[in-house]
Amino acid sequence: MTDQTKYVYDLSEGDVTLKPLLGGKGANLAEMAKIGVPVPDAFTVTTQACVAAMNNGGDWPEGLADQIDAGLARLEERTGKKLGSAENPLLVSVRSGAVFSMPGMMDTILNLGISDDTVGSVAQLAGNERFAWDCYRRFIQMYGEVVEGISPHVFEDALTAMKVDRGVDQDTDLTAEDLKALTDQFKELANRELGGEWTSDPKEQLLRAVNAVFASWLNPRAEVYRKSQGISRDLGTAVNVQMMVFGNRGETSATGVCFSRNPSTGAKELYGEFLTNAQGEDVVAGIRTPRPLEEMEGVLPEAFHELLATMDKLELHNKDMQDMEFTIEDRKLYMLQTRNGKRTAAATVKTAVDMVDEGLITTDEALLRINPSDLDALLHPGIDPNHTATSIVKGLPASPGAAVGALSFNADDAAERGGAGEQVILVRYETTPDDIHGVMKAQGVLTAHGGMTSHAAVVARGMGITCVAGAPGIKIDTINETVTIGDTVYGKDDVVTLNGSTGEVFAGALPLVPPAINEDFEKVGEWADQARRLGVRANAENFEDASKARELGAEGIGLARTEHMFMAADRLPAVRKMILAENEEQRAAALAEILPMQQADFEGIFTAMKGLPVTVRLLDPPLHEFLPNLVDQSVLVKELELTGADAAKLEAEKATLAQVKKLHEQNPMLGTRGCRLAMLYPSIPEMQARAIIRAALAVLEREGETVGVEIMIPLVAFESELKAQRDIVVAAVEDEFEKAGKKLDYLVGTMIEIPRAALTADQIANQADFFSFGTNDLTQTGIGISRDDAEAGFLGAYVETEVIEKNPFESLDADGVGQLVAIGVEKGRATKPDLKTGVCGEHGGDPASIEFFNKVGLDYVSCSPFRVPIARLAAARAALQA
Ligand code: PEP
Ligand code: MG
Repeated sequence: MTDQTKYVYDLSEGDVTLKPLLGGKGANLAEMAKIGVPVPDAFTVTTQACVAAMNNGGDWPEGLADQIDAGLARLEERTGKKLGSAENPLLVSVRSGAVFSMPGMMDTILNLGISDDTVGSVAQLAGNERFAWDCYRRFIQMYGEVVEGISPHVFEDALTAMKVDRGVDQDTDLTAEDLKALTDQFKELANRELGGEWTSDPKEQLLRAVNAVFASWLNPRAEVYRKSQGISRDLGTAVNVQMMVFGNRGETSATGVCFSRNPSTGAKELYGEFLTNAQGEDVVAGIRTPRPLEEMEGVLPEAFHELLATMDKLELHNKDMQDMEFTIEDRKLYMLQTRNGKRTAAATVKTAVDMVDEGLITTDEALLRINPSDLDALLHPGIDPNHTATSIVKGLPASPGAAVGALSFNADDAAERGGAGEQVILVRYETTPDDIHGVMKAQGVLTAHGGMTSHAAVVARGMGITCVAGAPGIKIDTINETVTIGDTVYGKDDVVTLNGSTGEVFAGALPLVPPAINEDFEKVGEWADQARRLGVRANAENFEDASKARELGAEGIGLARTEHMFMAADRLPAVRKMILAENEEQRAAALAEILPMQQADFEGIFTAMKGLPVTVRLLDPPLHEFLPNLVDQSVLVKELELTGADAAKLEAEKATLAQVKKLHEQNPMLGTRGCRLAMLYPSIPEMQARAIIRAALAVLEREGETVGVEIMIPLVAFESELKAQRDIVVAAVEDEFEKAGKKLDYLVGTMIEIPRAALTADQIANQADFFSFGTNDLTQTGIGISRDDAEAGFLGAYVETEVIEKNPFESLDADGVGQLVAIGVEKGRATKPDLKTGVCGEHGGDPASIEFFNKVGLDYVSCSPFRVPIARLAAARAALQA
């Protein structure tokens, strides 16, 4: 029965459509072979086999071992070589290959098949004895560590002892004889570590190696990486078993990595690195610093030109920038891997735009290729160009942007301090994928070794984290946590600035500036605007933010939080006076003070947004945010009583204390907020309505044009509340019109941010010209979790331990809170088919949530100004994917 499941595919049986089964690497290898690119022959064990083993406590599904055996036999047949044969040995690599690329996160075994029996003919075929013994000792080391779990120290110590004994510095200084002796030692050590259980049968080793790659799918660094990239654990990894080709057979052999375009800038130019007489791992692990690809023309000209042609062919075929690994064995080029290259946000945008210009892809394809959060990185700061400073060292510009932070010397420390909100720069000799949790929490990464394509660089670039790699001559002391750069010693408390775009490192914190948004960025925005259905507005409270939002493509303001206009220290007293007023007379005086401030702010926003709609939300001040703290106020009164110095002040503070006590609430977020305060004190919404209309008329007068005025009532739960508030607003507005002798169009609508409002939206809609979903409060009240307390507490733990997938305050809980939105839209439109609906909670800038809002038919989303470009693109992608 099980023999119906096919777990092993020959190279010629696959192609790119089988990616879910063969993994990215396996499918791309097959595809390359299909289009005539030189690829070493191989077979692939499917992801399905890995998943079956994973679900079965590690036990292989029936038939898998036999199918691998048969696959190997066919590979032997095709290559004319045989695993373990003394005459014509086949050597293979065993590599992981998941559906989504996870660079360096899983295990690899090279040179499998080398043994006491085969090492002699490997030496003979290669004409190089040293090479053969080097392969063999590397194999024992790699296989021992990866498959058998032997500590690296066992081998490293022996290697170091050998070098000391021979009086040499470098591995490459060891002779064939030395390496042969070392191989014997390694075998003995490995056998001892395994209590005599070391196997030297290549077939047995192959099966165990496949199993080890399966198991590496679940190793901690892979888990961390998957989580950060949202890759499902259920996918499993494929395993590629491929004939080895050798880049380390002397100076006519080489290995390298290249991109079809520059992955940092997106420019169409030569980009890559190579090393002669080396194996692939030497390049990607960053152990030897590789040479720029340009130099290969002088060393291996024929292979170089074939490589250029192959790069073009692969890019054209895949219609995307390719990231390739190649090996040259005795002047013959082999491609070992191609995949769509990870790239910076800037390069993502540039390549997408260029490829549209080149006719390679359509604008819609370009939009689908740019992840909205990539745009975020483009909005990140760089170093102020007007600031001159001399760098203390210059390494490779591995991942662009600028980063300022205190030094951290290990990943755990960086994860801890970075997680606690400190800005840190992780400094490592070379980063390994085990450092990933630290990299993720750091502002930037600085390494002493490694090239542009080392893991540190690839991972940081993918995550948009600034990285300077291979900084020459820096000396890191991880024990004492210091780094010596030039003559200066820097410690944990010292701050540096990295320029990931130039590779420069500076002492101290340099001033940063926001990046300029270029023409390509603008073009993507224009294409997105043509493709999207959802409108995009911004949340802003002043002229500057509104102007920025408009510059970034906002089509209006979806939320101006009027209470935010009072956050400044010089304005807070006026609001306090208004709330704490003991009678209407006092309140009227406070409101008279506030009205001109509000009007001036509104004029600023309206000027920035003229011609577009602006939703002004009436006051929604959670009282605890705006009132003096009860305890502090009590202490203040006590102090004044004790000193007895200022009787008048004492009386005033006592009166305030009495009011604070009266207004004190146990749950202020569920208390006298929003329209509830306005219901108690109608003079507040009245004043605000007047200020809005006066501002709109003043801007009309001054600019000849004003905004579409939308007045929004917050925290409504009952139709009767909205009716009462609407009446107050309309009366004030009409009175202003009459006084001014002028009119303009305006709307009165409401926020839907209480479940009751969503559920009774058909009634609420009777009083509303529009709805705007306040998904912050709707999440708080819909799930019943405090938006102020939960994230640092249990909610963080829930996300960490995957009780829930995502923080519902960041990304909408579509299953639960989303239903309230959907019901609200449906019921509201049942009453008023043309009811305008939008969202202004934080979810308005979150791509996944935007997809949901598009689906339920909202008219627009509103988000913070810097997220406007992201929202425009996300809305376009939602429309294209729908
Ligand atoms: C909301 O609740 O989603 C909202 C936009 O209002 P605020 O965040 O000001 O409570
Ligand atoms: Mg709210």
